[in-house]
Amino acid sequence: MPGAAAQVSVLVDVPDAPDAPDAQDDLHHLGLRSTPPRRKVLALLRHGTRRHWSADEVYRDLAAAGDDVGLATVYRVLAQLEQAGIVRRTSFDGGKAVFEIDEGPHHDHLVCVRCGGVAEFCDDAIEARQHAVAQARGFALVEHRLSLYGLCRACTTRGADR
Ligand SMILES: [Zn+2]
Ligand SMILES: [Zn+2]
Repeated sequence: MPGAAAQVSVLVDVPDAPDAPDAQDDLHHLGLRSTPPRRKVLALLRHGTRRHWSADEVYRDLAAAGDDVGLATVYRVLAQLEQAGIVRRTSFDGGKAVFEIDEGPHHDHLVCVRCGGVAEFCDDAIEARQHAVAQARGFALVEHRLSLYGLCRACTTRGADR
């Protein structure tokens, strides 16, 4: 591995710690009434098979598990959870938006323009440069969102066959 690549940590779909608080407790702490759709959506975001979810993926996963939660409800619940500060919404170019539990360290995203896959990374050099750019202009940085668009490894490999 070249030295530069070693500084980049890519975290993909890291499972939650087993002692994560359950959805009911979360909702209570957030001041939201505990309803079945809220509990199900939150539990899915916390313990589901992926870390970044589109509303459609949440809807389909719940349906596959036999949970009858309509797509409009999924959208509404995701918006409520975002407003309550426990879910982070990231909108990507092309209109795709993904939702993830908003906790843990800051990270940016790599978005595959073919399969829609989303991976996370955090690069100290990029973080430092952004602070330097803002500071040099007397700009008080509040937050930033960085998304890199391209083809993921799987899609690059598949592309060679097409
Ligand atoms: Zn891909
Ligand atoms: Zn993320």
